[in-house]
Amino acid sequence: MSPEITPQIEPVPIGEFAEPDFVRLPEPVALFRARADRLRALSATHTLAPYLVFLAELAAIQERIAASLPSPKPLSPEELEAAVADTRAPLDRLLFVPDEFALAVSDKLLAALADVAIPEAAVQAVGRLKAADAATRQAALQHTLRTLPVAEVLAEHALLSAALQVVFAAAAATLPPQRLQPVADGVCPVCGSPPLASLLAGWQGARGTRYCACGLCGTFWNYVRIKCTLCGSTKGIAYHGIEGDAGTIKAESCESCRRYVKILYQQKDPALEPMADDIGSLGLDLLMREAGFARGAVNPFLLGY
Ligand SMILES: [Zn+2]
Ligand SMILES: [Zn+2]
Repeated sequence: MSPEITPQIEPVPIGEFAEPDFVRLPEPVALFRARADRLRALSATHTLAPYLVFLAELAAIQERIAASLPSPKPLSPEELEAAVADTRAPLDRLLFVPDEFALAVSDKLLAALADVAIPEAAVQAVGRLKAADAATRQAALQHTLRTLPVAEVLAEHALLSAALQVVFAAAAATLPPQRLQPVADGVCPVCGSPPLASLLAGWQGARGTRYCACGLCGTFWNYVRIKCTLCGSTKGIAYHGIEGDAGTIKAESCESCRRYVKILYQQKDPALEPMADDIGSLGLDLLMREAGFARGAVNPFLLGY
């Protein structure tokens, strides 16, 4: 089966507002609740059902932790303005030093997993992480932000990523959105991560506007349509979908870098959620691999697939 290539010219609706907001910062509790709901809904008919149910439980734990922890200390105005002046992501994941807050979140997440049916690989990872002292856990959190894991530690990487998502979403939520600006193509303007997916927004006030979604901090940032969300090229952008499906998730491929990132048509289906639907649409990744494109998005919950 070859991917269906749809025409590159897509109708661009006039937005509800001529100037959409550059960023939509996360509301952590709502972010993880929507993700848990969507994962649960997808699991009802999916071949990966047990895994999706586990991830739904994990997202529900993230939601509870986000709701129970006090807000982290915001960046000082000086730190924020220094990042703005240097066109840097103010919460750059590569510069992040795991603090007491990050350790507390990871402690809570590991403890909460005791009440959940979890895959065998994750059981062992939880045991190893719980046994680690604070310095080792801090180093592991930092490593998770900076590198892709080797096969033996995929489960650790996924669990620590889940904790870091809570930490970064909480920190992102404290930023003043009007002070954020584009940093570079393919980079979250808050934490510097590559985009997990892009979407045509389904929310009030920006419907049909294209945003990239960050898988770490949960920020959405405005991005021109029909342009590679990774390298910024506008040449040879094509859209690939699975014939006969709802047509609400496609792969946007780029001839320049030979990679693709999924695009979600959330204005057609408001339930679409970047993290959950990236995992739910794994079939599209298999098609794109056959078509010779490399996956550009990094999803810590999909690295074993
Ligand atoms: Zn981010
Ligand atoms: Zn590209």
